[in-house]
Amino acid sequence: MLVFKFGGASVKDAAGVINLSNIVKKYEGQKLLIVVSAMGKTTNALEKLTKAYINGSRDLHTVFDEIKDYHYNIVKELFAPNHPVYNEVANTFVEIDWMIEDEPHADHDFIYDQIVSIGELVSTRIVAAYLNQTGIKTQWLDVRGYVHTDNNYREGNVNWDRTRASISQEIPALLDNGIVVTQGFLGGTSENFTTTLGREGSDYTASIFASCLNAESVTTWKDVPGILNADPKHFADTVKFNELTYAEAIEMTYYGASVIHPKTIKPLQNAKIPLLVKSFNDPSAEGTIIKETADMHFDKPVIILKQNQVLLSISARDYSFISEIHLSEIFNLFAQNNIKANVMQTSALSFSVCFDLNPERFEKLLAGFNQNYKVKYNSELTLITLRHYKLYDLKGLVENRSILLEQVSRNTAQMVVK
Ligand code: ASP
Ligand code: MG
Repeated sequence: MLVFKFGGASVKDAAGVINLSNIVKKYEGQKLLIVVSAMGKTTNALEKLTKAYINGSRDLHTVFDEIKDYHYNIVKELFAPNHPVYNEVANTFVEIDWMIEDEPHADHDFIYDQIVSIGELVSTRIVAAYLNQTGIKTQWLDVRGYVHTDNNYREGNVNWDRTRASISQEIPALLDNGIVVTQGFLGGTSENFTTTLGREGSDYTASIFASCLNAESVTTWKDVPGILNADPKHFADTVKFNELTYAEAIEMTYYGASVIHPKTIKPLQNAKIPLLVKSFNDPSAEGTIIKETADMHFDKPVIILKQNQVLLSISARDYSFISEIHLSEIFNLFAQNNIKANVMQTSALSFSVCFDLNPERFEKLLAGFNQNYKVKYNSELTLITLRHYKLYDLKGLVENRSILLEQVSRNTAQMVVK
């Protein structure tokens, strides 16, 4: 069986849904499970709605109306006015109406997941209805009964035993009956609340299903021809990789390449299931295949930019050397506040660390440093990572920006620049 994943950009309008159905048609007769994200930028819009609700902002209803209008415009282009999908979509949105009537729950991450998940629940209703309308027999599946997580809202941890049992017991029979369409990014707790798996988590969902169903492959359909050495939005003359190893793909996502969600590869690697990255605009083109052994050529380095970085430097107030005791205190604070270090460097008197800015977490982190530490930081920085950079002009890349931290190893060079 095959697993496909369609991201938000692939279903951002009616033409995208039609294109999806044309791709799926080419695979008719195969067992196929399709994981779909929220349409276009819906998740961002739902995040805005969640904030407005929590802050009691007057924008709340305007933001919600925009989200609904956007979806109904797509529905109107695809279906006749009496089609049952109108009710399905309305019944999904009404969950938000019920929620925002009440005072916000104290746990904001919980609220976030209950609201933001509506994006995927609606998009999959539309996609499944459209596939059925075009004659492709399709079943809509609520993923929350299959991907079981703990109640770590916004970053649910998958309970693999329960998930594997649910998926492997029930999905094969469904696949005998037609295509299955389900939501990416979502999970369910044992109390039947909705969780999310972290932004851009739909790739991970696809890999969970593939692993539990022992799929032949996973294909993620994107707006790029495959995995490129650099983001074409920032660099000209990018090259596409035909093949990559799982290990190289993990390295790339670790340093922030946004082509695939970082958690995606491990389950696939464990089960030796290849991941194909292909263009939804040119479905017959080859794309990139990620697998155990690959024929890799790095004629150009892999360049990964991460924006919105903070560089924090921490030293002991009494001028004592940074010791293992200090480091373990510092790492504990990072772990407690869920902040992941992207680069670190120690010197005798200070420890420097670069990470993504999440204002709430950063504030808590700073508050956690006691009077024994002195901290300084710079924000709005960019982290540039180069893999396989040999013979490449590192300084040319930075031009006249100032380098605040630099770290070079055999395969990887990193610079934090202003
Ligand atoms: N819709 C979610 C997001 O935008 C999940 C995904 O697209 O993978 O983060
Ligand atoms: Mg998305």
